[in-house]
Amino acid sequence: MPVPTLGNPQNTIEILKKYNFSFQKKYGQNFLIDTHVLDKIIAAAHITKDDFVIEVGPGIGTMTQYLAAAAGKVAAVEIDGSLIPILEDTLSAYDNVHIINQDILKLDIRKLVEEENGGRPVKVVANLPYYITTPIIMGLFESHVPLESVTVMVQKEVADRMQVGPGTKDYGALSLAVQYYADPYIVANVPPNCFMPRPKVGSAVIRLTVHKEPPVHVEDEKLLFAIIRASFNQRRKTLANGLKNAAGLNLPKEVIEESIAELGKGAGIRGETLTLEEFAQLCNSICHKK
Ligand code: SAM
Repeated sequence: MPVPTLGNPQNTIEILKKYNFSFQKKYGQNFLIDTHVLDKIIAAAHITKDDFVIEVGPGIGTMTQYLAAAAGKVAAVEIDGSLIPILEDTLSAYDNVHIINQDILKLDIRKLVEEENGGRPVKVVANLPYYITTPIIMGLFESHVPLESVTVMVQKEVADRMQVGPGTKDYGALSLAVQYYADPYIVANVPPNCFMPRPKVGSAVIRLTVHKEPPVHVEDEKLLFAIIRASFNQRRKTLANGLKNAAGLNLPKEVIEESIAELGKGAGIRGETLTLEEFAQLCNSICHKK
């Protein structure tokens, strides 16, 4: 396999000039220009020649070159049509990359995995466009794409939210959703000067190792997430009021009160103090009473 040639400022600038490329802010385009960070991401993703990797937003193909050198096969999904000729150029030496010009949020990823990897679990690796971090990650989990791990660069604050437990201000619906599906681990913090152009926020690489089985058993997954969202929608309210006021839930007052009482934490508890296990218990109690 050829060695990656991108990943430093000089070669990045050269390619951008060659194609007269102008960055599109609306697509969250901040390209990596630091080889140490790229090496860290590839190491954290534990990629081998047996792996099929999906990369979201390859940009000019910087990380794609590293992925192609390490993996068996790579599918790189890029929304910006003006990057496609650049990718065809920067990835021309690799015969194991499939460039797909599509919006990742509209792509049938399950079908892609079925066709290109026989439905076997894949690894997702990306320097994500920050404006759609949550829909991308939740979309992957909720559509039950067979996944082994998701190793991604995200805004530092978002990485923190994914990793924390109850009792902190960062704890919320995203923490619980991510932890229901995966085990999060922050691999590295990455400063703005590792990107071109520099983002206004700090970044972090997070690895989500997907659970083979969820750590809690719930009878109704949709209800669990509806309860979690309702609990954090009105953070200042008690859990009971949050659930009573939730538009889509439509639960009888007595069911809510009895189920909260069964948690044994008092009627005035707030949702932000509950662990994933406690949310699961609450969900199952509600399910039995409905
Ligand atoms: N991987 C490159 C790198 O590390 O240098 C670029 C990362 S840049 C932060 C995000 C990339 O995602 C851009 O290339 C952008 O055009 C692309 N992108 C933005 N929205 C997208 C979407 N909905 N579907 C697919 N790609 C998208």
